[in-house]
Amino acid sequence: MSATSPEISRRALLGAAAALALAPGLRLIELAQGRAPGEPATGRVRWGLLVDANRCTSGCTACVDACSRENGLDSAIELRQRPQWIRKVELKEVRTGREASLPVMCQHCADPPCVDVCPTGASFKRADGIVLVDRHACIGCRYCMMACPYKARSFVHAPVTDQRQGVPRGKGCVESCTLCVHRIDRDQEPACVQACADSGHGALLFGDLNDPHSAIARRLREVETHALRADLALDPGVRYQGI
Ligand code: SF4
Ligand code: SF4
Repeated sequence: MSATSPEISRRALLGAAAALALAPGLRLIELAQGRAPGEPATGRVRWGLLVDANRCTSGCTACVDACSRENGLDSAIELRQRPQWIRKVELKEVRTGREASLPVMCQHCADPPCVDVCPTGASFKRADGIVLVDRHACIGCRYCMMACPYKARSFVHAPVTDQRQGVPRGKGCVESCTLCVHRIDRDQEPACVQACADSGHGALLFGDLNDPHSAIARRLREVETHALRADLALDPGVRYQGI
């Protein structure tokens, strides 16, 4: 990982210190996430993402491009039918003319309507707050696409030809941002976060909302942040600063 956030560095350092003191041979992920590889996610952690619109620039698509590469979304499918897990949205305040550019993806709601409406249980929320679709259980009814107020989900129209390891996808299923759960489970940040840092913008901060000492939890306490469509009270794990 060429760019490492303060949060991951802090967790890695804490993990290293604990490994020295407690259990030689334990891998960092076991300590950073409080669970061993292969064990289910726990509710001790709630993963979140903070988008700083002050740092995000119009025209930059580093996060979108990284998401497509990481998850194999940029295959030969024509653009109109290509699933998109992140999109850039440009905002303009009518009264002041102030403009903002920000990425919008699955907001990983604590109370997700996509899960409520899913007739098969394919849409589900992991204990650590990541909302996912089990593609083996998804029947492609698209109820969840209608229920999501953020238009965060895509239907896969064409056969998947560029499948990435650890990112199960399939024609006829609905999908959305997984927060790069396959990377998180390896103690890496989501690809968009790393790409944004590599681009020099550093507009995305990822971490554990439940840990009061994490960089994201501290920032949420220190600056004014917003949930998109806060009126819906879905308690999203993705928050925005500077909008
Ligand atoms: Fe579900 Fe949409 Fe909320 Fe994501 S943003 S958890 S897809 S309702
Ligand atoms: Fe559930 Fe799939 Fe239907 Fe969405 S499209 S509601 S995930 S079965």
